[in-house]
Amino acid sequence: MKLRDKDFEFEHELGAGNGGTVSKVKHVPTGIVMARKNIIVSVDDESNRKKAERQLKSELKILHECKSEFIVSSYGAFSHDGAVSVCMEYMDLGSLDGIYKKHGAIAEATVVKIAVHVLKGLMYLADNKILHRDIKPSNILVNSKGQVKITDFGVSKQVLDTLARTFTGTQGYLAPERITSGDVYTVTSDIWALGLTLIEIATAKHVYPMMTLFEMMTYVQDSDPPSLPPGKFSPLFEDLISKCVIKDHMQRAGPEGLLQHPYCMDAVEGGISLLEWTNTLDKDE
Ligand code: ATP
Ligand code: MG
Repeated sequence: MKLRDKDFEFEHELGAGNGGTVSKVKHVPTGIVMARKNIIVSVDDESNRKKAERQLKSELKILHECKSEFIVSSYGAFSHDGAVSVCMEYMDLGSLDGIYKKHGAIAEATVVKIAVHVLKGLMYLADNKILHRDIKPSNILVNSKGQVKITDFGVSKQVLDTLARTFTGTQGYLAPERITSGDVYTVTSDIWALGLTLIEIATAKHVYPMMTLFEMMTYVQDSDPPSLPPGKFSPLFEDLISKCVIKDHMQRAGPEGLLQHPYCMDAVEGGISLLEWTNTLDKDE
C-alpha cells in the first residue's frame, strides 16, 4: 500500500517519546485507523540526512516484513518535510505504562501471561536475527481483543550478529553488560529489560526511580539484582523474575529458555485469559 501524507486525517495525539510523537490517524482511502509515528531525522548536513533517511527506511522495510501476532504490525513508512512517518497497527488500549498508571498494578496472573506474549515476540525477532533493544512498559501495547504485542524494536540498528555493540535504548532498563566497558548486547539483554518491566507493572513502580544515569550505572553493577517486594507474590513468580535479572548475561536464559519456565508453561495452559483482563480496561477513545 502506498502511503502519502495527504491521505491521513489526524484524530488525536497518543503520546510522545524521545524519537517523536505518535498520533491516532485515519487513512482515508481505506478507512483504516492507524497509529502514526513521526520521527524527526535530525542530521544537519543535507547529504547525511538523506543517507540517514534512506537507512531508516530500509530498516523500516524489515519491520514491515515482520509478521507475528506478538509484534505490532506496520502498514508502511514514508518521508515528508524532513520527517519519516511509520504507520502501525493501532492498539486501542495503549501501552502497559499508561495502563498501570491509570488502573494500578497489574495482577500477577495477568503479568505472567503478558510475559509469555513478550517472550514469544522476542523469540520471533530472535529467529529473524533482530534484537529488540528497548523493552519497557511503553513499548508493550494492548488492544481490546486481548492481544499484547511489542513495538519499537531496534529499527535504527539492524543487527545480524548475536553479539552486537551499541549504546542505545532507554537508560532505565539497561542490563549490566551494557554498562560495563565491553558493552555487549545480546538477546538476553532484552530479557533483563523484561525482568525490570515485569517488576514495574506488577508493583506500579519504576525499579530505579529518580536516579541519574550515572547513579544507576554504578548501582546496577554494585548491588544485588532487583527483585519483587517480599511476601507479596508467589514463589514461582519470584523465581521467574530472578531468572530474568541474573547479572551475568552468560548465565541468563534467552526467550526460548524462559518459555520453558514452569510458571510460563502453566500460564500458557490456563489461568485468566487476557481478554477477561482487557475487558476491565478503559479504551482510549
Ligand atoms: P521512547 O521514545 O523512549 O521509545 P515511548 O515508547 O514512550 O518512549 P513512543 O514510542 O513515541 O514513546 O510512544 C509514545 C506513546 O504512544 C506510547 O507510550 C504509547 O502509549 C503510544 N503508542 C505508540 N504506538 C502505539 C500504537 N501502535 N497504538 C496505540 N498507541 C501507541
Ligand atoms: Mg515507544
